[in-house]
Amino acid sequence: MQENPAAHASVAVIGGGPAGLMAAERLAEAGIAVTVYERMPSLARKLLMAGRGGLNLTHAEPLDHFLPRYGAAAPWLGPIIRRFDNQALRHWAEALGEPTFEGSSNRIFPKSLKASPLLRAWLRRLERLGVRTATRHTWRGFTDDGGLDFEQADGSTLVVHPDATILALGGASWPRLGADGGWVAPLRAVGVEVTALEPANTGITVPWSPYLTERFAGTPLKTVAVTFRGQTLKGDLVVTAYGLEGGPVYAMGPAIRTALARDGATDLSLDLRPDSPEAALARRLAKAIGKSRTRTNALRQAGLGPLAVAILRESSADLPADPLALARLVKAAPLRVTGQAGLARAISTAGGIALSALDDRLMLKARPGTFACGEMLDWEAPTGGYLLQACFATGSLAADGASAWLRQSRS
Ligand SMILES: Cc1cc2nc3c(=O)[nH]c(=O)nc-3n(C[C@H](O)[C@H](O)[C@H](O)COP(=O)(O)OP(=O)(O)OC[C@H]3O[C@@H](n4cnc5c(N)ncnc54)[C@H](O)[C@@H]3O)c2cc1C
Repeated sequence: MQENPAAHASVAVIGGGPAGLMAAERLAEAGIAVTVYERMPSLARKLLMAGRGGLNLTHAEPLDHFLPRYGAAAPWLGPIIRRFDNQALRHWAEALGEPTFEGSSNRIFPKSLKASPLLRAWLRRLERLGVRTATRHTWRGFTDDGGLDFEQADGSTLVVHPDATILALGGASWPRLGADGGWVAPLRAVGVEVTALEPANTGITVPWSPYLTERFAGTPLKTVAVTFRGQTLKGDLVVTAYGLEGGPVYAMGPAIRTALARDGATDLSLDLRPDSPEAALARRLAKAIGKSRTRTNALRQAGLGPLAVAILRESSADLPADPLALARLVKAAPLRVTGQAGLARAISTAGGIALSALDDRLMLKARPGTFACGEMLDWEAPTGGYLLQACFATGSLAADGASAWLRQSRS
């Protein structure tokens, strides 16, 4: 049998999140010696945090619906996700003893609704495959002779010269979990184009009155519809001290970001009763107004909760007495948006290594032998499992790209 020419090669994977660990698994299966370098004391802290929400691994929709979720990056990511798609991800999880199920809105979760059993099983598999891990190793950049420069836990320096490197350092959201975007400067220094890192899947800033934040911060706003620039999305929101969080505003994030960059502030409208047609709501309000002394009481009698009433009062100081005008306000309460929550609160990061800086095996054109994957690349997607799917798929391709490159350069 002919030996794999890459079999005795060594690869450094920097970053022990889902993208880096998937790359490590594929490389180790190809017989390559892999060390995962991770700055934190333990691996995959963000994956564990995602587990608190049940760990939405991927989405069940067919790929012709799935792939457009990646927006401008869809043509580039499409072929990468096709070679490790939502079905492949479900099989992979099942093989680790974590079968999946299709939950609400066709999102895919492990049946345990947790990340920790999956991660434990995965780390056991990696150990069996011989993957070494070096935690508390912070990558600082490249040395002049092409090595990788790490700071170790005691402050000392370690320089390694692997045969190939996979960068999987994540974006810059929730930096306390490890990924803080500190890799941008060292990569720009060696000529890699990196677009600015910005918050994605993040809340919006709304100038609430002190009354509203004091009374309602942390309160959910169930089943509402948000309309922004002609697009309407239904879902749940949560009022926060600074504004609003939740699926519909996350999904509209790229359009809101563009409007804020251009105009400084923007407006959206909130339908607090998306399942009631305007005319029916107006009839109900007319009856309630007849029986109530105040508009607030009428709105409460018509089925609106205290938070919905408070939001209406924020958007219109004088609530209209006319039932139809009041129904219109309930169906389209205007809200001023003055900003987006920063990276520290964002679920994910937009921007990153420019896709044009990578070849079709995810190797950095400016640095042969160095590959990159996961959230550090310049793509973005809404929540719904699309983030992890792209991290796993790009991790898998970067590993196969590195194996192929090592084979070629050694044979
Ligand atoms: C609260 C929350 C919930 C989420 N829920 C979901 C969900 O349900 N579904 C979904 O699809 N996505 C979810 N996401 C997003 C998803 O977790 C990320 O997209 C994914 O973890 C990114 O994977 P990654 O491997 O690219 O980066 P990361 O998971 O961020 O891993 C990068 C690793 O690199 C390490 N690192 C960084 N810099 C250095 C350095 N200089 N030296 C050494 N190591 C370094 C970091 O410590 C980290 O461990 C969620 C995110 C958050 C914050």
